[in-house]
Amino acid sequence: MSEQQWNAVDRYLGEHLVGADPVLDDALRDSDAAGLPAINVAPNQGKFLHLLTLIAGARRVLEIGTLGGYSTIWLARALPADGRLVTLEADPTHAEVATANLRRAGLLDRVDVKVGPALDTLPQLEGPFDLVFIDADKPSNRDYVGWALRLARRGTVIVVDNVVRGGRVIDATTGDAAVDGTRRLFEYVATEPRLTATAVQTVGGKGYDGFLLAVVTADV
Ligand code: SAM
Repeated sequence: MSEQQWNAVDRYLGEHLVGADPVLDDALRDSDAAGLPAINVAPNQGKFLHLLTLIAGARRVLEIGTLGGYSTIWLARALPADGRLVTLEADPTHAEVATANLRRAGLLDRVDVKVGPALDTLPQLEGPFDLVFIDADKPSNRDYVGWALRLARRGTVIVVDNVVRGGRVIDATTGDAAVDGTRRLFEYVATEPRLTATAVQTVGGKGYDGFLLAVVTADV
């Protein structure tokens, strides 16, 4: 099956199950105009995060890796009016674009964009969060899941994006820091008794990748 077909199927799924959304379209347009890379989740993946947040009944969400706030909008829209989302972003320009996008989406009342390397801002946070979405620098993924656990409760859902890396995750010899970081993540999650997890491979408009889904199964 070709990449062209993955893209066409993603468009089909998007047309049927996601639909037109001027707020999200504007967020992507302004992110592009500001020179941000198009490494946001795809629309059907954003909707998937939205559904997971609803299924979890989440009131407090943590996101690591904001970019222009595209996934943030999907997550925050699933929160009740008194819900809170904290999103961590290292790049001040990305954070500025995201803040403008969230303001236009009418979500700034429930979203806090924290600027700085996540490993510096995470110690300032107070849990528990009900859902954590990890989508920042891949070499730090193991540390981010460690922090997610520290800021969790029994039942917290943890999602990590981009864990298949075009299939290269099975190769210990790539010398690619993102692949090596992802492999450390799997080794950690596999041996952490407070987590139960799976990972799912995905294809589509964002290529061949996948996500890890974990639930905290113990009091932390
Ligand atoms: N979640 C976003 C979405 O789907 O719309 C995409 C996030 S993008 C893949 C990764 C983001 O993580 C970038 O904006 C990058 O600047 C940010 N980032 C990279 N290293 C970081 C770090 N150490 N701490 C916080 N954010 C970081």
